[in-house]
Amino acid sequence: MFNSLDDFVRAKLSALEAAHLRRSLVDSFREDGVWIERSGRHLLSFSCNDYLNLTHHPKVKATAIAAIEKYGAGAGASRLITGNHPLFAELEARLAKFKQTEAACVFGSGYLANAGIIPTLVGESDLLLIDELSHSCLWAGSQLSSAQVQTFRHNDLAHVEELLAQSRGEYRHALIVTDGVFSMDGDLAPLADLGALAQARDAWLMSDDAHGLGVVANGKGSVFASGSKAPVDLQMGTLSKAIGSYGGYLCASQPVIDLIKTRARTLVYSTGLPPASVAAAIAALDIIEADSALTARPLANAQAFTRALNLPLAQSPIVPVILNDEM
Ligand SMILES: *Cc1c(COP(=O)(O)O)cnc(C)c1O
Repeated sequence: MFNSLDDFVRAKLSALEAAHLRRSLVDSFREDGVWIERSGRHLLSFSCNDYLNLTHHPKVKATAIAAIEKYGAGAGASRLITGNHPLFAELEARLAKFKQTEAACVFGSGYLANAGIIPTLVGESDLLLIDELSHSCLWAGSQLSSAQVQTFRHNDLAHVEELLAQSRGEYRHALIVTDGVFSMDGDLAPLADLGALAQARDAWLMSDDAHGLGVVANGKGSVFASGSKAPVDLQMGTLSKAIGSYGGYLCASQPVIDLIKTRARTLVYSTGLPPASVAAAIAALDIIEADSALTARPLANAQAFTRALNLPLAQSPIVPVILNDEM
């Protein structure tokens, strides 16, 4: 029987296939953060965000199991209804302290965090400046916000300055968003200088530290990469990478967090993280804060790798190796 949906989708898939852009999922059994079994082969993995191998740390696993025993396998509801199990407050206090902000809010994932935070803070009469290489979920949040989105050239402070000089006056508020560590290229945003620029023009600055927490600046993340804390109003990040668990977060001032907890749609209308994920994140933070040799190792390894291959010196544990076309 003719089905226009399947017909449409098949045509789309063949076009993707022809362009070498069709992708598929492969069973991947990660024995730990280093070794993986895939298609019957035992492989050394260079392609994982579990930078500190904390997904498999005995203390992290034991803490997660204990949380399931005590609080159950799931949160049961949105945090604003009955899903706010006591582990959230503990994790949020720990994150705020580590990031040197007044408060924090934990989300279901990093993607949900960005999709919720940006539309809560800016709207139609606001300007949003975004680095052209920002992560997909910063774009998603930007589009959901209905703000006037303008793209700036990657890490180009002069371009940000130019756009602010041109347009800032026409809008009520302005928000600058950028990855702190760029997820595909591994370089860092100039957060201290961006923060100064933002302050001079009454713009707000948000950084996404998904790949910085746990592995940059003694584990404190890209906002601290210059040696002191850069003036970043909104420090967003994920619990799903070096932390080895799952979830997202925002660290910011108390009023900002109060508003986010009242209005961010991806927090209000989505179920709270399972207790095990929150407990695992707390246990991982304990390890990250206590072991600076561990948090220094991924960058040292990446730099050894770039030296051996004669690539530009790694600034983060992400080393891009660019392979011509899609094929
Ligand atoms: C991975 C990533 C995210 C998404 O985080 P999840 O917790 O995996 O949803 C957001 N931003 C950046 C820059 C990332 O690399």
